[in-house]
Amino acid sequence: MSQEFDFIVVGAGMVGAAVGYGLAREGRRVLMLDGEDTDFRAAKANFGLVWAHGKGHGQPHYQRLSIAAVKDWPKFAFQLESESGMPVAYEQKGGLHFCLSEKEFNDRAARMSTWHAQLPELPPSTRMVDRGELERLLPTARLGNDVFGASFGSLDGHVNPLRLLAAMQAAFCRHGGALRARQTVTAIKPLKDGGFEVMVGSHATRAERVLISAGLGSAVLGPMVGLEVPIKPQRGQLLVTERLAPLLPLPASGLRQTSEGTVMIGVTQEDVGFDLQTTSDAAVRMARKATRILPDLAKARLVRQWSCLRIMTPDGAPVYASSSEYPGADIVTCHSGVTLASFHAGAYARALASGSPSNTFDIFHHDRFDVQKVA
Ligand SMILES: Cc1cc2nc3c(=O)[nH]c(=O)nc-3n(C[C@H](O)[C@H](O)[C@H](O)COP(=O)(O)OP(=O)(O)OC[C@H]3O[C@@H](n4cnc5c(N)ncnc54)[C@H](O)[C@@H]3O)c2cc1C
Repeated sequence: MSQEFDFIVVGAGMVGAAVGYGLAREGRRVLMLDGEDTDFRAAKANFGLVWAHGKGHGQPHYQRLSIAAVKDWPKFAFQLESESGMPVAYEQKGGLHFCLSEKEFNDRAARMSTWHAQLPELPPSTRMVDRGELERLLPTARLGNDVFGASFGSLDGHVNPLRLLAAMQAAFCRHGGALRARQTVTAIKPLKDGGFEVMVGSHATRAERVLISAGLGSAVLGPMVGLEVPIKPQRGQLLVTERLAPLLPLPASGLRQTSEGTVMIGVTQEDVGFDLQTTSDAAVRMARKATRILPDLAKARLVRQWSCLRIMTPDGAPVYASSSEYPGADIVTCHSGVTLASFHAGAYARALASGSPSNTFDIFHHDRFDVQKVA
């Protein structure tokens, strides 16, 4: 049966927009349906790090994926900016994880050395830097007395996440993709002769294939096509200062100065369900830690505090899975959609377009959680 679209991508957030863009680049006819402004949208409230440094500890496959994604980022950013006509403020000069005592420094060194040992075939991409070297790396920063050193990841960087999202959606449309906002998908029906009918209320659209990339909304949609992925929210709170003169030339985990001059301070990891409240407790903890690193921040005015929900799998690694019950349906979810955008728009979209994502990415199938339950 000939369908109007090759793919319907459900959810045009950080993940859906990247994959949709990649599929449209591959010449596929793609419809992307996005939900409401009131949905939980991690794409619109995240920290903007493009980060491999320490990711996938105890999970070499996720570590390998993160490293490959950050290595692809410079090419991806160049391509995206040329195809969308929108600058995304991507910078890759390396990134820091500050250590606020000698013990923290030694623990971090041990952790990073185990992390490197997981992938002996790759040259180390991080090293420990002492306070002296840190001062040379950050000439505009006056470091607090507690700063002992840091781990430095040479591949890491940061981007303006709002511009990234807008650019991926714009490039998707320029490649002929159709993007419809405020179209909450209420049902996905596998058709007898192949393909799927995707319902927005009573309105149906058909496609050969469907990709579920609806963030926290995927938990409801996945089971409609045999893809029951266990995900849960994890709250992250952030603070933002007024615009300041350049003081932090490199992004750090939990501290970065944006291209506009504001300093982002974060980020909490809280298991509080679907609660989006911000708390003064968290603000105090984050501000205290930030001012131990950069005491001058104490003089800066805070302009905003917000919270947003991460989309977490039980082991924190992504899920890429095809439905064995309803071939043609796929699901993708991850908690580092900014970092993995280059992979989602690149290798993942190409694999999906060629029809073979499950073989390629078997290790990321959610059936790994069933194995853990049995063990
Ligand atoms: C505080 C915080 C900081 C973070 N920092 C970083 C970082 O520094 N680096 C990094 O790599 N990642 C970071 N992340 C994670 C990153 O933001 C997410 O991994 C990413 O946004 C997930 O993308 P997504 O498309 O799965 O979900 P979202 O971006 O949340 O998008 C989901 C979309 O699906 C739509 N939707 C939902 N239900 C339906 C439906 N039924 N029909 C149609 N559409 C639907 C929604 O409207 C939404 O647009 C952070 C997250 C948080 C919360």
